[in-house]
Amino acid sequence: MQTKKMTTKKIIIAIDGHSSCGKSTVAKELAKMLGYIYIDSGAMYRVVTLFAIRNRLIINKIPDEKKLIEALKQVKITFLWDEKTGKNTTYLNGENVEEEIRQITVSENVSPVSTIAGVRAEMVKQQRENGKNKGIVMDGRDIGTVVFPDAELKIFMTASPEIRAKRRFDELQGKGQQVDFDEILKNVIERDRIDSTRETSPLLKADDAVVLDNSNLTRKDQLDWAIKKVKAITEKNDC
Ligand code: C5P
Repeated sequence: MQTKKMTTKKIIIAIDGHSSCGKSTVAKELAKMLGYIYIDSGAMYRVVTLFAIRNRLIINKIPDEKKLIEALKQVKITFLWDEKTGKNTTYLNGENVEEEIRQITVSENVSPVSTIAGVRAEMVKQQRENGKNKGIVMDGRDIGTVVFPDAELKIFMTASPEIRAKRRFDELQGKGQQVDFDEILKNVIERDRIDSTRETSPLLKADDAVVLDNSNLTRKDQLDWAIKKVKAITEKNDC
């Protein structure tokens, strides 16, 4: 679908939802189409987790909260977002860690790390800084509820655990990684459980979010759906 780049008032688009339901695909395509910044907030929690693993601040999936919060000063997270290709690269202190943060070791440890209130407070601060000029699409778990409660468009995405695990399996296998479907499914279910039941900023649908269940939708269907929602808001803003 062709859409002209919007010269209209920029908005904030918050996309939340379960693990591996394709939030980043929709978010990146929307950002590319609108000429907006894209921020993958999950990647930020993944970078902190990678840093914790490398520095032995997490043992048997139990992070050393105090040391990790102290160490956050040494963690500089940056992104290189190529609007033309829609490719996003994540850096930890200038090192490209895009591949490493997607590996299963990080996936298995990221939810315990992201339950830490001090870690969340720092990430939310950085995320709000990125959105201060609007014109941003951010995906995560608490974007519409906590980070940008006033976002003009909030989308809550979901799909069945099996479909999400299959997508993650195909993606990792496509990158040449040795992966086991059952292990991935277990990880998807476990992350849903931790993300939805944690005390600080649990994964919740914001009251004013629109739900997108993409279990049976193609990539194009969901993008068309999202664009319609954006247009409805930006056209109303222009009136
Ligand atoms: O989006 P992704 O699956 O890469 O996120 C990895 C993990 O980071 C999630 O399972 C969740 O524990 C955490 N996360 C979070 N809040 C966000 C984004 C991600 O707690 N806004």
